Amino acid sequence: MSTASSHRALGIVALVAAALLGSAYAIGYSLMGNEGDPVPAAPSSAPHVAAQPPATGTPSPDTTADEPAPEGVNEGGPHGTQMTTGTGQVTLTFDDGPDPYYTPQTLAALRAYRVTATFCLVGENAQAHPDLVRAIVADGHSLCNHSWNHDVLLGSRTEQTIQADLLRTNEAIRAAVPDARIAYYRQPGGAWTYPLVSVARNLGMVPLHWTVDPNDWQAPGAASIAGMVNAATMPGSVVLLHDAGGDRQGTVDALYWILPNLTSRFRVAALPPDL
Ligand SMILES: [Zn+2]
Repeated sequence: MSTASSHRALGIVALVAAALLGSAYAIGYSLMGNEGDPVPAAPSSAPHVAAQPPATGTPSPDTTADEPAPEGVNEGGPHGTQMTTGTGQVTLTFDDGPDPYYTPQTLAALRAYRVTATFCLVGENAQAHPDLVRAIVADGHSLCNHSWNHDVLLGSRTEQTIQADLLRTNEAIRAAVPDARIAYYRQPGGAWTYPLVSVARNLGMVPLHWTVDPNDWQAPGAASIAGMVNAATMPGSVVLLHDAGGDRQGTVDALYWILPNLTSRFRVAALPPDL
């Protein structure tokens, strides 16, 4: 099979997957109701096993960038976390990095489509790869704290422990980019608790959840990831993706289907780096 026809075949597979996953996703949303608070206890090997946040409407692939985001859902995530952009803009978030193999590929894809995103960094990874932290900031992306070592149980620890963890992570990031603002905190696994939200806010960070989760950390393949993201994203969506923590080639490859699709329908950009 030639390269062109194999690409065409892949494209058809992606379209079929998008249609199937889109309906599966819509059904999942309607079954979920409003009881989908995240499960707090998750193994550290499973970064995001939380249930989907409450649905804010039926995902429609036909919405346009001109439509305003639904009112009043900006802080509609678990424990009052932010789960949408608050405008018609869509934002992509990349968790668990930086990673020396996948983060540069992610940055290259975003650069190719002139899209900025929000990177939720794990402190020990930021400490290990300050060059990648600088590359993220140099490309205009926003920063988000994702705890020191991806502690999904952090919310059950004391406020002092939570605060020390978040501060240590911010220090590791700032060691690489002293002037960069870290405006967001995202709890690993989406396992929010009131103390987590409170400490993050006291440290000047917005607790950030998400609206669209293609479960890319389970490596379902690029067509599945792209199909679900393209079908479920609507004005205001915050899309959860990963550029580290396992085999993320599927996520990187999916970006070449996600980015042309979303940028043709929405304004896609990082959350404001400075609130
Ligand atoms: Zn994570």
